[in-house]
Amino acid sequence: MNLEHALKDPIFKIISTTADELDIACYVVGGFVRDYILKRHTGQDIDIVAIGSGIELAKLVAKKLTHRPKVSVFKTYGTAMLRHKDIEIEFVGARKESYSKESRNPEVKNGTLEDDQKRRDFTINALAIGLNTSNFGTLLDPFNGVLDLKNKRIVTPLDPNVTFSDDPLRMLRAIRFATQLDFEIDSHSFEAIKENYQRIDIITNERIVVELHKILESPKPSIGFLLLEKTGLLELILPELTALKGIDEVEGQRHKDNFYHTLEVVDNIALHTNNVWLRWTALLHDIGKAPTKRFSKKVGWTFHGHELKGSKMVYHMFKRLKMPLNDKMKYVQKLVFMSSRPIALASKHITDAAVRRLVFDAGEYIDDLMTLCEADITTKNPRKFKKYHNNFKIVRQKMVEVEERDRIRNFQPPVTGEEIMNAFHLKPCREIGMIKEYIKEAILEGQIPNERVAAYALMLKKGTELGLKQHDETKI
Ligand code: ATP
Ligand code: MG
Repeated sequence: MNLEHALKDPIFKIISTTADELDIACYVVGGFVRDYILKRHTGQDIDIVAIGSGIELAKLVAKKLTHRPKVSVFKTYGTAMLRHKDIEIEFVGARKESYSKESRNPEVKNGTLEDDQKRRDFTINALAIGLNTSNFGTLLDPFNGVLDLKNKRIVTPLDPNVTFSDDPLRMLRAIRFATQLDFEIDSHSFEAIKENYQRIDIITNERIVVELHKILESPKPSIGFLLLEKTGLLELILPELTALKGIDEVEGQRHKDNFYHTLEVVDNIALHTNNVWLRWTALLHDIGKAPTKRFSKKVGWTFHGHELKGSKMVYHMFKRLKMPLNDKMKYVQKLVFMSSRPIALASKHITDAAVRRLVFDAGEYIDDLMTLCEADITTKNPRKFKKYHNNFKIVRQKMVEVEERDRIRNFQPPVTGEEIMNAFHLKPCREIGMIKEYIKEAILEGQIPNERVAAYALMLKKGTELGLKQHDETKI
């Protein structure tokens, strides 16, 4: 097959003539070729394999480019990287690898193109296109990767037990590609993952999280989480999720399977947001349900306090997986903590005050919280489905009305602490906080509008009630 049309970008011609000059054979391999054939235009990164020094090739290519990019050399790996426009081009010498049991860092020797293709994870990632003038555009596909692309199959080029045991990260990559591309993992490869899943313990958490992110960023993340569950990997990586599996029955009362429910919520939310942290929130919103599950004869199954418990578990999970303990984590925690609030609202008569409180508490996250709660509607009963969605529409409508009038979203106290101090000639003291809280409550309850004049008057009234003496100049 000739794929010269994949090499339209002038950079390939530059690499080609440079490689000819150095008498080095070189190829573009991996994801670029795969995605080109799939007509997938996601990652723009290009991987070049050289039979010889990839570093030398990279340096000379860089010299020929008008913007003279910097070449980052990683001597221990024999790789070099340069940036051209917004493309990252990585050059590597072809290698042959042999692994030991303890680590995913292999012993590396120089090899042929075939050696290099063999050490790649899947046949669809082992495709190469010739770049030298003699074979410019020729596809080299020793493991029938193109056929597997056509049949939508993830297959390892070698015995999958060897491939996965050598580098267990590949098990996650298999599941990630199956999810991103909506491909099937070949049954031998799948069985091999089931056999080798415990080897995942030699992989760092950072690399695991990269794959989890990619699964979550896919159009239908449940594909990946179901595969992770079936292979045993999920239990090792995210036991908080597998703990949600199963339906208990006591005296004829059952609760829903919160694991499968969660996956539905994640798929739902993926239709409405590309924000990966909001997708994480959907994945984790019910994790507090496993440890808080109780049964009582009177009310049946309950999960009291699961939102608070869940938000605490988010911290422990992020810490364990070495995910950032920053504002992203706080965002996930807050949304998990608030995840039932709009639902409680939507199921009763909705008052303005309740909407104002919701908007006040959720602050800048209110839209994301509503998106989460709408995705949480997974009932199979069409009448209920419609009703719940309708209720949320009403809540959203009310939110707009209340916001227009009261501007609660970025609430700033209409009377400042300093003004209170001036009005009553006070030094910092607890009465100031009390008055501010009183004003805020009055606004949220709708007793006064969110306006300065009304708030100032209320401040004077409350201060007097608290026995404070008004400063003469501020009397009105
Ligand atoms: P994407 O960039 O979308 O994640 P990709 O296939 O380009 O997909 P990279 O991680 O960029 O993935 O790796 C580039 C290529 O290197 C892959 O196509 C594959 O051939 C090879 N590769 C990457 N990681 C491994 C691995 N753990 N084992 C074997 N080969 C790998
Ligand atoms: Mg890539």
